[in-house]
Amino acid sequence: MYQNVTNPGDEGLDDRALDLRRRARSYVEEVLIPLEEEAELLHGRLPDATVQMVKEKALEAGLTGGLHKPENGGQGWSKLEWFLVEEQLGRSTNAISWHIPNGYNVWDIASEKHIEKWLKPLLRGETRDAYAVTEKNAGSDPSGIETTAVRTDAGFRINGEKWFVTSGDVADVLVVMANLEEDGELLPTLFVVDKSLGGVETIEDPGFTHSYPDGHPTIRFNDVEVGEDDVIGGIGGGDEVQKDWFAEERLGIAARGIGSMWRLLDETVDWAITREQGGSRIMDYQGVSFPLADSATDAAAGRQLTLEVARLIDASADPKVCHNKASMAKLFVSEAAWRCADRCVQIFGGRGYRRDNVAERFLRELRVDRIWEGTSEIQRLIIARGLEKRGVETLLQ
Ligand SMILES: Cc1cc2nc3c(=O)[nH]c(=O)nc-3n(C[C@H](O)[C@H](O)[C@H](O)COP(=O)(O)OP(=O)(O)OC[C@H]3O[C@@H](n4cnc5c(N)ncnc54)[C@H](O)[C@@H]3O)c2cc1C
Repeated sequence: MYQNVTNPGDEGLDDRALDLRRRARSYVEEVLIPLEEEAELLHGRLPDATVQMVKEKALEAGLTGGLHKPENGGQGWSKLEWFLVEEQLGRSTNAISWHIPNGYNVWDIASEKHIEKWLKPLLRGETRDAYAVTEKNAGSDPSGIETTAVRTDAGFRINGEKWFVTSGDVADVLVVMANLEEDGELLPTLFVVDKSLGGVETIEDPGFTHSYPDGHPTIRFNDVEVGEDDVIGGIGGGDEVQKDWFAEERLGIAARGIGSMWRLLDETVDWAITREQGGSRIMDYQGVSFPLADSATDAAAGRQLTLEVARLIDASADPKVCHNKASMAKLFVSEAAWRCADRCVQIFGGRGYRRDNVAERFLRELRVDRIWEGTSEIQRLIIARGLEKRGVETLLQ
């Protein structure tokens, strides 16, 4: 994947990676960014024909199902290649990129039956999925989940309630974490739940700060019957599968956060060098230029940290170290990106408070990156435990 670095912009990437980054960049600039203001006005919900166009352009550009295996309809990207694409997607607002056909990573370890029934249609853009772990009494500490599964003659019966199920309003299939009660033990297990099954009930679909295409409803499972083989990762394997998933999701959040800072800085620097007040360009006031300099430094430092995580995962480094470093990248970038959006709103002045301003949208959208996939406090806990268990040197190198 790497060649000698001849041009700093190429970062030693090979032709395949450079081509991928070029395609992702064109897609973001030509398809996603022009739709942002319409998406904002429509509270995230673009017309069906537009959504279809967004999907088709992604299919044409080869940007669908990036990390999934080619034999399942994915692209088989490395984590570094994925980073390059997610960084570009992060430059756009309103999560219009959620329409790019894709599926949660756990489908890769699903049975042949589930890959045919769910993953392949997901990657063709024909269906949608959602992933349900969080509950009313189990957020940062998922060990407190109360959703249960019990064995039946035909498979399992699920009861419980899941909160904040992203895309749960539009999904056809849900991956649901439940404790299987067996021989007095609680075995955390991931179940595949067809949303059209009897007993799956949406009980609340609240509004959230961002204007995104999908909601995050609360979904209740009332005696939902699933089959013997509707399990992913084996009985009791839910927690293990989740750990891999977290490192990847945190890497994605960091990559997109860097893209967001890039876009914010691009637009805000353009503004600051053209806007004049008090007889000078506002860029000439240090109160304006220094926050931009600080955010540019954050973005460049966060980018190196995040790239390192991608390269370590690709090199099959110790998963625990990758997990710790993914937390560092997510923590650093999500906090730096929101700070950057806040600074940019300030520099745009009154215009920064308008919904047609990119900084205003990012200010609302980036806030959740400090909450989902583990809050900033939980990332700090993971990093602190890593310092103790694996040593300072391992985490710093
Ligand atoms: C828009 C959105 C989409 C989401 N999508 C999904 C989804 O698709 N699937 C899913 O399963 N979940 C999803 N979530 C849930 C998300 O992962 C949780 O909100 C998050 O993990 C925090 O849990 P909580 O909200 O219950 O907060 P709590 O765990 O109640 O935390 C409240 C506060 O206490 C702090 N805190 C908790 N424990 C500790 C501790 N040990 N040390 C220090 N501080 C602590 C937290 O950092 C936080 O500040 C989503 C959430 C949002 C907002």
